[in-house]
Amino acid sequence: EYLFIVYLQPPPAKYGGRHTVTLIPGDGIGPELLNHVRELFRFSCVPVDFEVVHVDSASTSEDDINNAITAIRRNGVALKGNIETNHTMPSNHKSRNNLLRLSLMSDGRVPQIWPMTVHLDRFTSVRSQHSCHFLSLSTSLDLYANVMHCQSLPGVQTRHKNIDIIIIRENTEGEYSSLEHESVTGVVESLKIITRNNSLRIADYAFKLAREKGRRRVTAVHKANIMKLADGLFLQCCKEVASGYPDIEFDSMIVDNTTMQLVSRPHQFDVMVMPNLYGNVVSNVCAGLVGGPGLVPGANYGRDYAVFETATRNTGKSIANRNIANPTAMLLASCLMLDHLKLHDYANMLHTVDIGGQGTTSEVVQSIMRIIQSGGPLTTEI
Ligand code: ATP
Repeated sequence: EYLFIVYLQPPPAKYGGRHTVTLIPGDGIGPELLNHVRELFRFSCVPVDFEVVHVDSASTSEDDINNAITAIRRNGVALKGNIETNHTMPSNHKSRNNLLRLSLMSDGRVPQIWPMTVHLDRFTSVRSQHSCHFLSLSTSLDLYANVMHCQSLPGVQTRHKNIDIIIIRENTEGEYSSLEHESVTGVVESLKIITRNNSLRIADYAFKLAREKGRRRVTAVHKANIMKLADGLFLQCCKEVASGYPDIEFDSMIVDNTTMQLVSRPHQFDVMVMPNLYGNVVSNVCAGLVGGPGLVPGANYGRDYAVFETATRNTGKSIANRNIANPTAMLLASCLMLDHLKLHDYANMLHTVDIGGQGTTSEVVQSIMRIIQSGGPLTTEI
């Protein structure tokens, strides 16, 4: 019934064995970190050409975001910095990152997230206010699976050692639908959308990945005791999918308990699957467990496209242009991208991440270049 996974094949290399990747610098520390990635790629003769597309977070026009989406459709793969969500914008200015991730069928069909327009009649003001979002949806990418592999890194001092957790976050619906309105003064309604199709799809992704990576257990994270219908459906879908994977253990945990268990006994977790907002919270807890937002890469996969970025999508505005941002997460994101393009040797070569000490961003990058130049280790060692 739910044969969703379809392992995403990378686009074939172009003439001369080179790949073109869309590069979205974003705001804050994004541009400087991505410049370092480019420097390292050039230094290591990585056969990737970047098509740079700027998205202006302050712009109210949809042009730049549409250009970015078109470029990703063309190249199939992107590497991006975070695009700042401007909180002072009117409510119809939807998060730019969100637009990139939001659901859409690549063949132009109406996305799963809008399966029952009739139900939205009550949200007339939402629909009119957000009409530009609906248009954007038809041009967005169906990057439904956000994947974060949270691993302890050698040389980074943390309370818990040897953490190795894979977090699968549903990336297209849930609380991130941007469907909110003030129904009467002082009363705001905000839609959380959970669909059977998308829940089955993400659960199936989690189990397939668990099997492929030789993992033992998948834990579904939810709040079905309170959101009985929405999270109840998500949990039910996970259970259904689990029955098709008898070789993988399945259990579930309520999200509040999950955060407590993560900080006290993180080793009990293996693969975790959850709706969008819980994924946001849990991935930040996990990033903290292994040393912070500058260390962990993230990936967004759909049927047709893949976008790589730092796992916790930080803008880091206050540390921008000071040569102090940790480049590790973005460098590892670029390694994930190279692995996706099946350029594994290059990914391994760049995977010489030095994160010890108090080095500046450029010192870290230079030390990686020295290791590469000396024909040094092909795996992470400090
Ligand atoms: P900021 O406080 O930097 O303006 P913010 O409040 O929006 O940004 P985030 O961008 O979400 O916060 O980042 C959270 C925290 O993590 C901030 O203190 C930020 O400086 C820090 N941070 C994020 N990315 C990195 C990085 N690559 N290296 C070091 N610190 C980072």
